Amino acid sequence: MANNTSGTNASCAYNFKVVLLGEGCVGKTSLVLRYVEDKFNDKHITTLQASFLNKKINIAGKRVNLCIWDTAGQERFHALGPIFYRMSNGAVLVYDITDEDSFQKVKNWVKELKKMLGNEVCLAIAGNKIDLEKERTVAIEDAEAYAVSVGAKHFLTSAKQNRGIEELFLELTRRMMERAREADQKASSLKRSGSARRNIVVVDDEVPAAGPRAGCCAGQAS
Ligand code: GDP
Ligand code: MG
Repeated sequence: MANNTSGTNASCAYNFKVVLLGEGCVGKTSLVLRYVEDKFNDKHITTLQASFLNKKINIAGKRVNLCIWDTAGQERFHALGPIFYRMSNGAVLVYDITDEDSFQKVKNWVKELKKMLGNEVCLAIAGNKIDLEKERTVAIEDAEAYAVSVGAKHFLTSAKQNRGIEELFLELTRRMMERAREADQKASSLKRSGSARRNIVVVDDEVPAAGPRAGCCAGQAS
């Protein structure tokens, strides 16, 4: 499978990078293949190079391009460096509900992401393989409480049965859009208050004591 880099993103209002993280074999590649290509394979897919798949979606009339990065299995050798998740807008942290250890690994990834990217990155936690509910070892309540404690949203998914995946990416994308809008607003209000501050400085500097002229300069500066 090749990277899907076809098409231009110029028409998209938003372009987000999303990384999939989690222990080997929890179903990361299966989730992204199900979501983007609606395929599922019973075998562990090892042939993927570190790569991304593009998924275009429409939310509230806005065109969004998701660039979803999957690993080439480096996580098994603890060899996944910050280069992989650098500049991510969102991360999907995947564990296997039948594997307690994989849930603990999610906690390590969250710590790492927060350390490297701060709180700007939007997090979704996926408890995958819910078709194997009978073999569950991770309690839903524990996973949900943990997600709340780190500001993430928790989802139950099955790549095999195509459950919960659309919802996960939709909700994550909505939050990334919200975050992007907030960042834009912050930037433009900073710009505004920056120029307002400059105006005040001009008044202070140029008019030391003369009351009437102060009004005149303040008027000119604005
Ligand atoms: P990755 O190493 O995290 O990328 O995991 P893979 O996507 O390669 O999946 C590892 C194994 O788990 C493969 O045998 C998949 O078929 C299987 N798998 C993935 N998702 C599911 C799921 O939702 N249910 C079940 N039963 N098996 C799954
Ligand atoms: Mg994989």
